[in-house]
Amino acid sequence: MPDWFQITSCGGAGGALCTQSGLVYGNVMAIAVQQNRSRAAARLASRCLAALVALPLAFAPMPAYAQTAVPIVRDAEIEALMRDYARPILKAAGLESANVEVVLVADKSFNAFVTGRRIFFHTGALMQAETPNEVIGVLAHETGHLAGGHQERLHEQLRRANAIAVAGMLLGIGVAAAGGATGNNALGAAGGGIAMGAPEVAIRGLLGYQRSEETTADRSAIDYLLKTGQSPRGMLKTFERFASAMSLAGVQVDPYTISHPMPRERIGALETIAKQSPYWDRKDPAELQLRHDMMRVKLAAYTQGQGAVQRMFRGEAARGPAARYGDAIVTYLYGQPKAALDKVDALLKSQPKNPYLHELRGDILIKSRRGADAAAAYARAVSLDPARTGLLRVGYGQALLASGKPDDVKKAVTELSAGLHRDKEFVTGYRYLAQAYGMTGDVGMAELTTAEGHYYSGQLREAKIFAARAQTKLRKGSPPWVRAQDIINMRSKNR
Ligand SMILES: [Zn+2]
Repeated sequence: MPDWFQITSCGGAGGALCTQSGLVYGNVMAIAVQQNRSRAAARLASRCLAALVALPLAFAPMPAYAQTAVPIVRDAEIEALMRDYARPILKAAGLESANVEVVLVADKSFNAFVTGRRIFFHTGALMQAETPNEVIGVLAHETGHLAGGHQERLHEQLRRANAIAVAGMLLGIGVAAAGGATGNNALGAAGGGIAMGAPEVAIRGLLGYQRSEETTADRSAIDYLLKTGQSPRGMLKTFERFASAMSLAGVQVDPYTISHPMPRERIGALETIAKQSPYWDRKDPAELQLRHDMMRVKLAAYTQGQGAVQRMFRGEAARGPAARYGDAIVTYLYGQPKAALDKVDALLKSQPKNPYLHELRGDILIKSRRGADAAAAYARAVSLDPARTGLLRVGYGQALLASGKPDDVKKAVTELSAGLHRDKEFVTGYRYLAQAYGMTGDVGMAELTTAEGHYYSGQLREAKIFAARAQTKLRKGSPPWVRAQDIINMRSKNR
Protein backbone atom coordinates (compact mmCIF):
# COMPACT_ATOMS: atom_id res chain seq x y z
CA MET A 1 0.00 0.00 0.00
CA PRO A 2 1.51 3.34 -0.99
CA ASP A 3 2.26 5.94 1.64
CA TRP A 4 -0.13 8.46 0.22
CA PHE A 5 -2.96 6.15 0.94
CA GLN A 6 -2.78 6.88 4.59
CA ILE A 7 -3.42 10.47 3.75
CA THR A 8 -6.64 9.74 1.97
CA SER A 9 -7.90 7.32 4.56
CA CYS A 10 -10.66 8.40 6.85
CA GLY A 11 -10.10 8.80 10.51
CA GLY A 12 -12.48 6.83 12.69
CA ALA A 13 -16.01 8.00 13.22
CA GLY A 14 -15.24 11.49 11.96
CA GLY A 15 -14.30 10.19 8.57
CA ALA A 16 -13.97 13.69 7.34
CA LEU A 17 -10.40 13.50 6.11
CA CYS A 18 -11.46 12.07 2.79
CA THR A 19 -12.10 15.49 1.33
CA GLN A 20 -8.51 16.44 1.90
CA SER A 21 -7.46 14.19 -0.89
CA GLY A 22 -9.03 16.38 -3.54
CA LEU A 23 -11.08 13.56 -4.89
CA VAL A 24 -13.73 12.54 -2.44
CA TYR A 25 -14.57 8.93 -2.11
CA GLY A 26 -17.81 7.77 -0.70
CA ASN A 27 -20.43 5.18 -1.07
CA VAL A 28 -23.86 4.98 -2.44
CA MET A 29 -26.01 2.66 -0.46
CA ALA A 30 -27.50 1.01 -3.43
CA ILE A 31 -28.34 -2.36 -4.75
CA ALA A 32 -24.87 -3.40 -5.61
CA VAL A 33 -22.19 -5.69 -4.58
CA GLN A 34 -18.94 -5.06 -2.89
CA GLN A 35 -17.03 -7.44 -5.09
CA ASN A 36 -17.91 -5.29 -8.04
CA ARG A 37 -15.05 -3.02 -7.15
CA SER A 38 -11.69 -3.10 -8.66
CA ARG A 39 -9.01 -3.76 -6.09
CA ALA A 40 -7.85 -0.18 -6.04
CA ALA A 41 -11.37 1.13 -5.66
CA ALA A 42 -12.12 -1.33 -2.90
CA ARG A 43 -9.03 -0.23 -1.07
CA LEU A 44 -10.06 3.38 -1.27
CA ALA A 45 -13.67 2.83 -0.45
CA SER A 46 -13.03 0.56 2.49
CA ARG A 47 -10.82 3.23 3.96
CA CYS A 48 -13.50 5.82 3.52
CA LEU A 49 -16.59 4.00 4.68
CA ALA A 50 -17.33 6.70 7.18
CA ALA A 51 -17.49 9.48 4.66
CA LEU A 52 -20.73 8.85 2.95
CA VAL A 53 -21.26 10.72 -0.23
CA ALA A 54 -24.64 9.31 -0.96
CA LEU A 55 -27.07 10.22 -3.64
CA PRO A 56 -30.72 10.66 -2.76
CA LEU A 57 -32.41 7.44 -1.90
CA ALA A 58 -35.90 8.49 -0.89
CA PHE A 59 -35.45 6.07 1.95
CA ALA A 60 -37.02 3.06 0.45
CA PRO A 61 -36.05 0.27 2.82
CA MET A 62 -33.19 -1.65 1.34
CA PRO A 63 -32.92 -5.38 1.53
CA ALA A 64 -29.98 -6.66 3.54
CA TYR A 65 -27.88 -7.39 0.48
CA ALA A 66 -28.30 -3.79 -0.61
CA GLN A 67 -26.27 -2.52 2.29
CA THR A 68 -23.00 -2.94 0.47
CA ALA A 69 -21.78 0.05 -1.41
CA VAL A 70 -20.77 1.29 -4.81
CA PRO A 71 -17.77 3.57 -4.46
CA ILE A 72 -18.70 6.95 -5.84
CA VAL A 73 -16.09 9.58 -6.53
CA ARG A 74 -16.87 13.25 -6.21
CA ASP A 75 -14.60 15.78 -7.83
CA ALA A 76 -15.40 19.33 -8.95
CA GLU A 77 -12.95 19.32 -11.86
CA ILE A 78 -14.02 16.02 -13.38
CA GLU A 79 -17.72 16.63 -12.89
CA ALA A 80 -17.46 20.04 -14.58
CA LEU A 81 -15.58 18.54 -17.53
CA MET A 82 -18.10 15.74 -17.95
CA ARG A 83 -20.97 18.20 -17.90
CA ASP A 84 -19.18 20.25 -20.56
CA TYR A 85 -18.82 17.11 -22.67
CA ALA A 86 -22.47 16.19 -22.25
CA ARG A 87 -24.19 19.55 -22.64
CA PRO A 88 -23.96 20.02 -26.44
CA ILE A 89 -24.78 16.36 -27.09
CA LEU A 90 -27.89 16.43 -24.93
CA LYS A 91 -28.97 19.66 -26.59
CA ALA A 92 -28.50 18.12 -30.03
CA ALA A 93 -30.69 15.23 -28.88
CA GLY A 94 -33.37 17.67 -27.75
CA LEU A 95 -32.96 16.64 -24.14
CA GLU A 96 -32.96 18.98 -21.19
CA SER A 97 -29.41 19.34 -19.96
CA ALA A 98 -29.70 22.09 -17.37
CA ASN A 99 -29.52 19.74 -14.44
CA VAL A 100 -27.34 16.98 -15.76
CA GLU A 101 -25.69 15.09 -12.97
CA VAL A 102 -22.53 13.16 -13.57
CA VAL A 103 -21.86 10.23 -11.31
CA LEU A 104 -18.33 8.83 -11.23
CA VAL A 105 -17.97 5.25 -10.07
CA ALA A 106 -14.53 4.27 -8.80
CA ASP A 107 -14.06 1.15 -10.89
CA LYS A 108 -11.29 0.38 -13.33
CA SER A 109 -13.48 -1.56 -15.75
CA PHE A 110 -15.17 0.21 -18.65
CA ASN A 111 -18.80 1.12 -18.15
CA ALA A 112 -21.04 4.04 -18.95
CA PHE A 113 -24.79 4.50 -18.97
CA VAL A 114 -27.41 7.17 -18.81
CA THR A 115 -30.59 7.06 -16.77
CA GLY A 116 -32.89 10.05 -16.89
CA ARG A 117 -30.71 13.04 -16.16
CA ARG A 118 -27.87 11.10 -14.62
CA ILE A 119 -24.78 10.06 -16.51
CA PHE A 120 -22.73 7.30 -14.95
CA PHE A 121 -19.12 6.74 -15.93
CA HIS A 122 -16.62 4.34 -14.45
CA THR A 123 -13.34 6.08 -13.73
CA GLY A 124 -11.71 3.24 -15.67
CA ALA A 125 -13.57 4.31 -18.81
CA LEU A 126 -12.30 7.86 -18.41
CA MET A 127 -8.74 6.73 -17.87
CA GLN A 128 -8.83 4.52 -20.95
CA ALA A 129 -10.05 7.34 -23.21
CA GLU A 130 -7.09 9.22 -24.66
CA THR A 131 -9.15 12.05 -26.11
CA PRO A 132 -12.29 13.98 -25.12
CA ASN A 133 -13.75 12.76 -28.39
CA GLU A 134 -13.70 9.12 -27.19
CA VAL A 135 -15.71 9.99 -24.06
CA ILE A 136 -18.04 12.27 -26.01
CA GLY A 137 -18.63 9.50 -28.57
CA VAL A 138 -19.70 7.06 -25.86
CA LEU A 139 -21.87 9.76 -24.31
CA ALA A 140 -23.47 10.36 -27.71
CA HIS A 141 -24.24 6.66 -28.08
CA GLU A 142 -25.73 6.45 -24.59
CA THR A 143 -27.77 9.56 -25.28
CA GLY A 144 -29.04 7.79 -28.38
CA HIS A 145 -30.40 4.99 -26.17
CA LEU A 146 -31.94 7.54 -23.86
CA ALA A 147 -33.57 9.58 -26.63
CA GLY A 148 -34.76 6.39 -28.33
CA GLY A 149 -36.59 5.29 -25.20
CA HIS A 150 -34.60 2.05 -25.18
CA GLN A 151 -34.66 1.96 -21.44
CA GLU A 152 -38.40 1.76 -21.21
CA ARG A 153 -38.33 -1.98 -20.62
CA LEU A 154 -35.96 -1.34 -17.83
CA HIS A 155 -38.04 1.44 -16.39
CA GLU A 156 -41.19 -0.64 -16.58
CA GLN A 157 -39.54 -3.46 -14.66
CA LEU A 158 -37.94 -1.23 -12.12
CA ARG A 159 -40.42 1.60 -12.00
CA ARG A 160 -40.81 1.31 -8.27
CA ALA A 161 -37.15 1.77 -7.63
CA ASN A 162 -35.74 5.27 -7.59
CA ALA A 163 -33.04 6.32 -10.00
CA ILE A 164 -30.05 5.45 -7.92
CA ALA A 165 -31.37 2.07 -6.94
CA VAL A 166 -31.84 1.37 -10.63
CA ALA A 167 -28.30 2.39 -11.27
CA GLY A 168 -26.94 0.32 -8.46
CA MET A 169 -28.83 -2.68 -9.67
CA LEU A 170 -27.53 -2.20 -13.15
CA LEU A 171 -24.00 -2.21 -11.87
CA GLY A 172 -24.62 -5.34 -9.90
CA ILE A 173 -26.28 -7.10 -12.77
CA GLY A 174 -23.36 -6.08 -14.94
CA VAL A 175 -21.16 -8.14 -12.67
CA ALA A 176 -23.49 -11.14 -12.81
CA ALA A 177 -23.63 -11.03 -16.57
CA ALA A 178 -19.90 -10.46 -16.91
CA GLY A 179 -19.19 -13.37 -14.61
CA GLY A 180 -21.43 -15.60 -16.68
CA ALA A 181 -19.92 -14.49 -19.93
CA THR A 182 -16.33 -15.01 -18.87
CA GLY A 183 -16.97 -18.25 -17.10
CA ASN A 184 -15.50 -16.70 -14.02
CA ASN A 185 -17.56 -18.39 -11.36
CA ALA A 186 -16.37 -16.31 -8.46
CA LEU A 187 -17.35 -13.16 -10.28
CA GLY A 188 -20.66 -14.63 -11.36
CA ALA A 189 -21.46 -15.65 -7.82
CA ALA A 190 -20.61 -12.20 -6.56
CA GLY A 191 -23.07 -10.62 -8.94
CA GLY A 192 -25.65 -13.31 -8.31
CA GLY A 193 -25.99 -12.07 -4.78
CA ILE A 194 -27.54 -8.85 -5.84
CA ALA A 195 -29.75 -10.14 -8.56
CA MET A 196 -31.40 -12.38 -6.02
CA GLY A 197 -34.47 -14.10 -7.30
CA ALA A 198 -34.09 -12.71 -10.78
CA PRO A 199 -33.50 -15.49 -13.25
CA GLU A 200 -30.53 -15.18 -15.54
CA VAL A 201 -32.70 -14.85 -18.63
CA ALA A 202 -34.62 -11.96 -17.12
CA ILE A 203 -31.40 -10.23 -16.21
CA ARG A 204 -30.10 -10.47 -19.74
CA GLY A 205 -33.41 -9.24 -21.14
CA LEU A 206 -33.35 -6.38 -18.72
CA LEU A 207 -29.84 -5.36 -19.27
CA GLY A 208 -28.82 -5.93 -22.83
CA TYR A 209 -29.87 -3.63 -25.61
CA GLN A 210 -31.25 -5.28 -28.68
CA ARG A 211 -29.26 -5.29 -31.87
CA SER A 212 -31.74 -2.96 -33.55
CA GLU A 213 -31.42 -0.58 -30.64
CA GLU A 214 -27.64 -0.55 -30.97
CA THR A 215 -27.94 0.38 -34.64
CA THR A 216 -30.41 3.13 -33.78
CA ALA A 217 -28.22 4.48 -30.98
CA ASP A 218 -25.16 4.42 -33.27
CA ARG A 219 -27.01 6.42 -35.92
CA SER A 220 -28.38 8.87 -33.38
CA ALA A 221 -24.89 9.34 -31.98
CA ILE A 222 -23.49 10.12 -35.43
CA ASP A 223 -26.30 12.62 -35.87
CA TYR A 224 -25.56 14.38 -32.56
CA LEU A 225 -21.86 14.49 -33.37
CA LEU A 226 -22.64 16.00 -36.79
CA LYS A 227 -24.91 18.61 -35.24
CA THR A 228 -22.21 19.58 -32.77
CA GLY A 229 -19.42 19.54 -35.36
CA GLN A 230 -17.50 16.71 -33.70
CA SER A 231 -15.77 13.68 -35.12
CA PRO A 232 -17.32 10.21 -34.79
CA ARG A 233 -13.80 8.79 -34.69
CA GLY A 234 -13.55 8.42 -30.91
CA MET A 235 -16.78 6.45 -30.67
CA LEU A 236 -15.69 4.11 -33.46
CA LYS A 237 -12.26 3.66 -31.93
CA THR A 238 -13.75 2.74 -28.54
CA PHE A 239 -16.24 0.27 -29.99
CA GLU A 240 -13.62 -1.30 -32.26
CA ARG A 241 -11.47 -1.84 -29.22
CA PHE A 242 -14.36 -3.66 -27.54
CA ALA A 243 -15.18 -5.71 -30.62
CA SER A 244 -11.63 -7.03 -30.79
CA ALA A 245 -11.41 -7.61 -27.04
CA MET A 246 -14.58 -9.69 -27.23
CA SER A 247 -13.05 -11.98 -29.80
CA LEU A 248 -10.11 -12.86 -27.59
CA ALA A 249 -10.75 -15.76 -25.29
CA GLY A 250 -9.99 -15.23 -21.65
CA VAL A 251 -10.02 -11.48 -21.80
CA GLN A 252 -11.92 -9.93 -18.94
CA VAL A 253 -15.17 -8.61 -20.29
CA ASP A 254 -16.10 -5.07 -19.35
CA PRO A 255 -19.66 -4.52 -18.13
CA TYR A 256 -20.21 -2.18 -21.05
CA THR A 257 -19.80 -4.90 -23.64
CA ILE A 258 -22.38 -7.05 -21.89
CA SER A 259 -25.08 -4.42 -22.21
CA HIS A 260 -23.93 -3.30 -25.67
CA PRO A 261 -23.36 -6.22 -28.03
CA MET A 262 -20.54 -5.43 -30.48
CA PRO A 263 -20.73 -7.88 -33.35
CA ARG A 264 -18.36 -7.21 -36.25
CA GLU A 265 -21.16 -6.29 -38.65
CA ARG A 266 -22.34 -3.55 -36.31
CA ILE A 267 -18.88 -2.05 -36.14
CA GLY A 268 -18.56 -2.35 -39.91
CA ALA A 269 -21.82 -0.50 -40.50
CA LEU A 270 -20.83 2.16 -37.99
CA GLU A 271 -17.47 2.62 -39.68
CA THR A 272 -19.11 3.18 -43.06
CA ILE A 273 -21.37 5.98 -41.86
CA ALA A 274 -18.81 7.45 -39.47
CA LYS A 275 -16.26 7.93 -42.25
CA GLN A 276 -18.77 9.94 -44.27
CA SER A 277 -18.77 12.63 -41.63
CA PRO A 278 -17.24 15.92 -42.77
CA TYR A 279 -15.79 16.17 -39.26
CA TRP A 280 -14.00 12.83 -39.34
CA ASP A 281 -10.57 14.47 -39.11
CA ARG A 282 -11.58 17.20 -36.71
CA LYS A 283 -9.56 17.21 -33.50
CA ASP A 284 -10.75 18.23 -30.07
CA PRO A 285 -9.86 21.83 -29.20
CA ALA A 286 -6.41 21.94 -27.53
CA GLU A 287 -7.88 23.51 -24.41
CA LEU A 288 -10.35 20.64 -24.01
CA GLN A 289 -7.63 18.05 -24.61
CA LEU A 290 -5.59 19.63 -21.83
CA ARG A 291 -8.52 19.48 -19.40
CA HIS A 292 -9.03 15.86 -20.41
CA ASP A 293 -5.38 14.99 -19.82
CA MET A 294 -5.51 16.70 -16.43
CA MET A 295 -8.58 14.67 -15.51
CA ARG A 296 -6.95 11.39 -16.52
CA VAL A 297 -3.73 12.06 -14.70
CA LYS A 298 -5.65 13.12 -11.61
CA LEU A 299 -7.56 9.85 -11.61
CA ALA A 300 -4.30 7.97 -12.14
CA ALA A 301 -2.65 9.81 -9.25
CA TYR A 302 -5.47 9.23 -6.78
CA THR A 303 -6.46 5.71 -7.73
CA GLN A 304 -3.20 4.12 -8.92
CA GLY A 305 -0.31 6.21 -7.66
CA GLN A 306 3.00 7.40 -8.98
CA GLY A 307 3.76 4.62 -11.46
CA ALA A 308 0.53 5.16 -13.35
CA VAL A 309 1.16 8.90 -13.51
CA GLN A 310 4.64 8.38 -14.93
CA ARG A 311 3.42 5.89 -17.53
CA MET A 312 0.61 8.10 -18.81
CA PHE A 313 2.59 10.55 -20.94
CA ARG A 314 5.59 10.02 -23.19
CA GLY A 315 8.06 12.27 -25.01
CA GLU A 316 7.15 15.93 -25.14
CA ALA A 317 3.92 15.36 -23.23
CA ALA A 318 5.84 13.96 -20.25
CA ARG A 319 7.04 17.51 -19.57
CA GLY A 320 3.67 19.12 -20.32
CA PRO A 321 1.27 20.70 -17.86
CA ALA A 322 -0.88 17.58 -17.39
CA ALA A 323 2.14 15.43 -16.51
CA ARG A 324 3.33 18.11 -14.11
CA TYR A 325 -0.14 18.31 -12.57
CA GLY A 326 -0.06 14.56 -11.91
CA ASP A 327 3.42 14.92 -10.46
CA ALA A 328 2.25 17.71 -8.13
CA ILE A 329 -0.68 15.62 -6.88
CA VAL A 330 1.51 12.58 -6.29
CA THR A 331 4.06 14.72 -4.46
CA TYR A 332 1.27 15.99 -2.22
CA LEU A 333 -0.12 12.51 -1.66
CA TYR A 334 3.29 11.18 -0.76
CA GLY A 335 3.47 13.65 2.08
CA GLN A 336 5.73 16.35 0.69
CA PRO A 337 3.50 19.41 0.90
CA LYS A 338 6.28 21.96 0.48
CA ALA A 339 7.58 20.46 -2.76
CA ALA A 340 4.00 19.95 -3.98
CA LEU A 341 3.20 23.59 -3.35
CA ASP A 342 6.16 24.71 -5.45
CA LYS A 343 4.97 22.49 -8.28
CA VAL A 344 1.41 23.84 -8.14
CA ASP A 345 2.68 27.41 -8.02
CA ALA A 346 4.77 26.76 -11.12
CA LEU A 347 1.68 25.41 -12.91
CA LEU A 348 -0.36 28.41 -11.84
CA LYS A 349 2.03 30.67 -13.75
CA SER A 350 0.68 29.33 -17.03
CA GLN A 351 -2.89 28.72 -15.81
CA PRO A 352 -3.57 31.41 -13.20
CA LYS A 353 -7.33 31.12 -13.64
CA ASN A 354 -7.61 27.35 -13.25
CA PRO A 355 -9.88 26.96 -10.18
CA TYR A 356 -8.77 23.39 -9.58
CA LEU A 357 -5.11 24.35 -9.24
CA HIS A 358 -6.18 26.77 -6.52
CA GLU A 359 -8.26 23.97 -5.00
CA LEU A 360 -5.22 21.67 -4.93
CA ARG A 361 -3.20 24.51 -3.44
CA GLY A 362 -5.87 24.85 -0.74
CA ASP A 363 -5.73 21.13 0.04
CA ILE A 364 -1.95 21.20 0.33
CA LEU A 365 -2.13 24.23 2.64
CA ILE A 366 -4.74 22.56 4.87
CA LYS A 367 -2.42 19.58 5.11
CA SER A 368 0.42 21.94 6.02
CA ARG A 369 -1.75 23.41 8.78
CA ARG A 370 -1.81 26.80 7.11
CA GLY A 371 -5.54 27.33 7.47
CA ALA A 372 -5.68 31.04 6.65
CA ASP A 373 -3.62 30.56 3.45
CA ALA A 374 -5.75 27.55 2.54
CA ALA A 375 -8.89 29.64 2.95
CA ALA A 376 -7.44 32.30 0.65
CA ALA A 377 -6.62 29.65 -1.97
CA TYR A 378 -10.11 28.17 -1.77
CA ALA A 379 -11.71 31.63 -1.94
CA ARG A 380 -9.86 32.09 -5.23
CA ALA A 381 -10.98 28.65 -6.46
CA VAL A 382 -14.61 29.45 -5.67
CA SER A 383 -14.43 32.85 -7.38
CA LEU A 384 -12.95 31.30 -10.55
CA ASP A 385 -15.28 28.29 -10.75
CA PRO A 386 -17.57 28.67 -13.78
CA ALA A 387 -19.66 25.67 -12.68
CA ARG A 388 -20.33 27.22 -9.26
CA THR A 389 -20.17 23.78 -7.71
CA GLY A 390 -21.12 23.17 -4.10
CA LEU A 391 -18.02 20.99 -3.69
CA LEU A 392 -15.62 23.93 -3.81
CA ARG A 393 -17.74 25.98 -1.41
CA VAL A 394 -17.63 23.05 1.04
CA GLY A 395 -13.85 22.91 0.54
CA TYR A 396 -13.67 26.63 1.27
CA GLY A 397 -15.68 26.10 4.45
CA GLN A 398 -13.33 23.30 5.45
CA ALA A 399 -10.32 25.57 4.96
CA LEU A 400 -11.97 28.32 7.03
CA LEU A 401 -12.55 25.78 9.78
CA ALA A 402 -8.89 24.79 9.60
CA SER A 403 -7.95 28.42 10.17
CA GLY A 404 -9.95 28.29 13.40
CA LYS A 405 -10.25 32.07 13.89
CA PRO A 406 -13.69 32.98 15.27
CA ASP A 407 -14.58 35.13 12.26
CA ASP A 408 -13.47 32.38 9.89
CA VAL A 409 -15.55 29.77 11.71
CA LYS A 410 -18.62 31.99 11.34
CA LYS A 411 -17.84 32.38 7.67
CA ALA A 412 -17.38 28.61 7.43
CA VAL A 413 -21.01 28.17 8.51
CA THR A 414 -22.09 30.44 5.65
CA GLU A 415 -19.90 28.76 3.03
CA LEU A 416 -20.69 25.20 4.08
CA SER A 417 -24.42 25.99 4.15
CA ALA A 418 -24.19 27.53 0.69
CA GLY A 419 -22.25 24.55 -0.66
CA LEU A 420 -24.71 22.06 0.78
CA HIS A 421 -27.63 24.09 -0.48
CA ARG A 422 -26.26 23.58 -3.99
CA ASP A 423 -25.31 19.96 -3.47
CA LYS A 424 -27.55 18.47 -0.81
CA GLU A 425 -26.24 14.95 -1.27
CA PHE A 426 -22.61 15.82 -0.56
CA VAL A 427 -22.84 14.12 2.80
CA THR A 428 -19.28 14.76 3.93
CA GLY A 429 -20.10 18.46 4.01
CA TYR A 430 -22.61 17.99 6.84
CA ARG A 431 -19.84 16.79 9.11
CA TYR A 432 -17.93 20.01 8.61
CA LEU A 433 -21.03 22.14 9.00
CA ALA A 434 -21.95 20.35 12.23
CA GLN A 435 -18.39 20.92 13.42
CA ALA A 436 -18.61 24.62 12.52
CA TYR A 437 -21.89 25.02 14.38
CA GLY A 438 -20.37 23.22 17.34
CA MET A 439 -17.40 25.60 17.33
CA THR A 440 -19.75 28.59 17.39
CA GLY A 441 -21.58 27.03 20.35
CA ASP A 442 -24.81 26.35 18.44
CA VAL A 443 -25.36 22.76 19.56
CA GLY A 444 -28.97 22.61 18.35
CA MET A 445 -27.94 23.43 14.77
CA ALA A 446 -24.96 21.07 15.04
CA GLU A 447 -27.33 18.24 15.90
CA LEU A 448 -29.83 19.18 13.22
CA THR A 449 -27.00 19.24 10.68
CA THR A 450 -25.86 15.79 11.82
CA ALA A 451 -29.46 14.63 11.38
CA GLU A 452 -29.42 15.99 7.81
CA GLY A 453 -26.19 14.15 7.09
CA HIS A 454 -27.73 10.88 8.22
CA TYR A 455 -30.90 11.67 6.30
CA TYR A 456 -29.02 12.13 3.03
CA SER A 457 -26.95 9.00 3.71
CA GLY A 458 -30.16 7.01 3.92
CA GLN A 459 -29.77 6.38 7.65
CA LEU A 460 -33.22 7.46 8.71
CA ARG A 461 -33.10 5.96 12.19
CA GLU A 462 -29.97 7.89 13.16
CA ALA A 463 -31.36 11.00 11.47
CA LYS A 464 -34.43 10.86 13.71
CA ILE A 465 -32.37 10.43 16.86
CA PHE A 466 -30.33 13.54 16.10
CA ALA A 467 -33.39 15.50 14.98
CA ALA A 468 -35.09 14.74 18.31
CA ARG A 469 -31.98 15.81 20.20
CA ALA A 470 -31.79 19.02 18.16
CA GLN A 471 -35.41 19.87 18.95
CA THR A 472 -34.70 20.04 22.68
CA LYS A 473 -32.27 22.90 21.94
CA LEU A 474 -34.07 24.73 19.13
CA ARG A 475 -36.81 27.29 19.62
CA LYS A 476 -40.16 25.57 19.18
CA GLY A 477 -41.79 26.52 15.89
CA SER A 478 -38.61 28.06 14.40
CA PRO A 479 -37.69 26.93 10.86
CA PRO A 480 -34.88 24.58 12.06
CA TRP A 481 -37.24 23.09 14.67
CA VAL A 482 -39.82 22.49 11.92
CA ARG A 483 -37.17 20.87 9.74
CA ALA A 484 -36.24 18.57 12.63
CA GLN A 485 -39.90 17.69 12.99
CA ASP A 486 -40.08 16.87 9.27
CA ILE A 487 -37.23 14.40 9.70
CA ILE A 488 -38.87 12.89 12.79
CA ASN A 489 -42.13 12.47 10.85
CA MET A 490 -40.42 10.93 7.85
CA ARG A 491 -41.83 7.51 7.14
CA SER A 492 -39.76 4.86 5.49
CA LYS A 493 -41.79 4.06 2.47
CA ASN A 494 -42.74 0.54 1.61
CA ARG A 495 -42.88 0.80 -2.07
ZN1 LIG B 1 -25.54 0.68 -26.92
